[in-house]
Amino acid sequence: MTTTDTHCPYCALQCAMRLTVDDGGVTVEPRDFPTNLGGLCQKGWTSASLLTAPDRLTSPLVRDASGELVPTTWDAAYDVIVEAITRVQRESGKDAVAVFGGGGLTNEKAYALGKFARVGLGTAMIDYNGRFCMSSAAAAGTRAFGLDRGLPFPLADLGGADAVLLAGSNLAETMPPSVQHLAGVRSRGGLIVIDPRRTPTAQLTQDGGGIHLQALPGTDIVVLLGILHCVIAGAAVDETYIAERVNGWDAVKRSATQWWPEAVERATGVPAAQIRSAATLLAQASPLRGGAGAYVLTGRGAEQHAHGTDTVTAAINLALALGLPGTVGSGYGCVTGQGNGQGGREHGQKADQLPGYRKIVDPAARQHVAAVWGVDADDIPGPGVPAVELLSRLAEPGGPRVLMVHGANPVVSAPDASEVRRRMAALDLLVVCDFVPSETTHLADVVLPVTQWAEESGTMTSLEGRVLRRHKAVDAPEGVRSELTILHDLAQRLGSKATFDTDPSTVMDELARASAGGVADYGGVSHERLDSGEAIYWPCPDSESAGTPRLFLDRFAHDDGRAVMVDVRPAPVADDLRSEAPIYLVTGRLLQHYQSGAQTRRVRELVKAQPSAFVQIHPITAQRLGIDEGERVRVESARGVTVAPARLSDEVRRDTVFMPFHYSGGACVNDVTNPATDPISGMPEFKVCAVSLSRVDEAVAS
Ligand code: SF4
Repeated sequence: MTTTDTHCPYCALQCAMRLTVDDGGVTVEPRDFPTNLGGLCQKGWTSASLLTAPDRLTSPLVRDASGELVPTTWDAAYDVIVEAITRVQRESGKDAVAVFGGGGLTNEKAYALGKFARVGLGTAMIDYNGRFCMSSAAAAGTRAFGLDRGLPFPLADLGGADAVLLAGSNLAETMPPSVQHLAGVRSRGGLIVIDPRRTPTAQLTQDGGGIHLQALPGTDIVVLLGILHCVIAGAAVDETYIAERVNGWDAVKRSATQWWPEAVERATGVPAAQIRSAATLLAQASPLRGGAGAYVLTGRGAEQHAHGTDTVTAAINLALALGLPGTVGSGYGCVTGQGNGQGGREHGQKADQLPGYRKIVDPAARQHVAAVWGVDADDIPGPGVPAVELLSRLAEPGGPRVLMVHGANPVVSAPDASEVRRRMAALDLLVVCDFVPSETTHLADVVLPVTQWAEESGTMTSLEGRVLRRHKAVDAPEGVRSELTILHDLAQRLGSKATFDTDPSTVMDELARASAGGVADYGGVSHERLDSGEAIYWPCPDSESAGTPRLFLDRFAHDDGRAVMVDVRPAPVADDLRSEAPIYLVTGRLLQHYQSGAQTRRVRELVKAQPSAFVQIHPITAQRLGIDEGERVRVESARGVTVAPARLSDEVRRDTVFMPFHYSGGACVNDVTNPATDPISGMPEFKVCAVSLSRVDEAVAS
């Protein structure tokens, strides 16, 4: 029997767990850890099932002349890939090959993938599914603070606050163990949740826990401006803090003054009295008023919009006005979603970035990274394009003809997914690395079977910016390889000037050198230090540094050390209501499933609990449309149609329906969602679009 301490394969809470391996298989137990406090959700408890998935991929597959994916050798699969890449790049240029990465890859893999794209393939065309996850928060955080780390403080700090505002975050369902950190604020009545649904998180405000602001989809920014208006009216602005630490206040103040609570109520449906109460809770909790502290947190509900960066900026403006960021016991943060959503966006998978969150257009950054990679700075391509644009260019004239996908299932998770499927089918070659079949591997020309969480060593960076060790507990099945090996092998065959190591610890050492001096500085991070039990939060510039659990205590990361407020204004939903599409559709997660569901839809207990998609409809709306509980409902937008049974619930607004995004086939909600993107972050507007509803046996939409 062996035991191995590691972390959950799924979300960014990265709950600590112990894996026991004996003749009976692998058993999961939670470990006490500051973030999960000994808890796991149902996904974590059942995660060992992934290791014995009956349809585990254990051999490379290549599509044969009859169109079937058939097993082959690694050499033969590599030959197909290298021939296609070489031919396509000779005919159409380096950018004719694209790479799509994932926010679940370890730091080492994410780093190696970014390097492989730039100097193995020589392409600028790389981006990743984290663009769908929290890029608007990243853009807003960088704009305001000069640095983007989801939570710039340990999660446990929330426990001491008198008020916590959650804008579009459903923690109780997406990462249940984290709710333990809200016990204190609930007991003091200070939890404020902005959400169009009465989610499990919103329900935590009941019985004196706080306030639920059930805003119209797409209007979170108005709610935040209204709360700021009340903070100003109540003389709760920390003028000294602003004078010492913040630029841009005058314009923001002028803009907020027009958002009287009654105007906010008209725009959002949130009663004016609730707006005032939320402002009072935050003000009384703030350091200025001698409170124990207040936090403003955003999640995907606020961020996944065509103007998500501005909505997050409104949340940051509110926090800055109250003097919260960079103050111990208070702050602003973004609740990261994907397992390595933080580290995955720091080391080169993003279209415009090099390791260490360096800008790819910065000559000094290019020089530094080129020296680590052993290439000329001129060998590193310029910026590529964000994920939605990258996918929209596939197989278009002048666009990528070959795509390599790593740790992602974009034909389910991308907006307007049916269009993405059509484009992928038209590629010269689609290569997908995964450990189980997915809807994207089904379209692939070559599938490469890879290791998964408990079969590999590496690091993940959690939602609070702490670098965690992922330890190997079991051997991978025969025939499976790590992406580090695959990238090494392909780079060698493609004649890359740069070398690609296959040992995760050595790759981390290289990542540390490449990121050193950058914004996300891992210069002092090593597997050895982490294995000794050190709790390292980046930035950690050298081996003497203990890391930085709390950012911004002395200064923000802009050159002048000050935070920047930006005057932001509400904008309409990109695909707004109209007579033929009179209801808003919002999408989100369920407790039992993760992302596109490629992993969790093959875990028996999780499927039993949530077997299929559904359309959550308010009973009054359903009655008006003649839809009964369980009846199949056709949901149609300007992009497409999806069908799922009705689940009647008064937890959703009457003008809104909700669907989970974990399902595929005819119930793939992303066949309906809108690919309109935020102009700053490139984040698509997953969270809201206009739809019509009808029973499937009806010919006419409502
Ligand atoms: S899915 Fe998230 S909340 Fe659930 S056990 Fe894993 S890390 Fe924890």
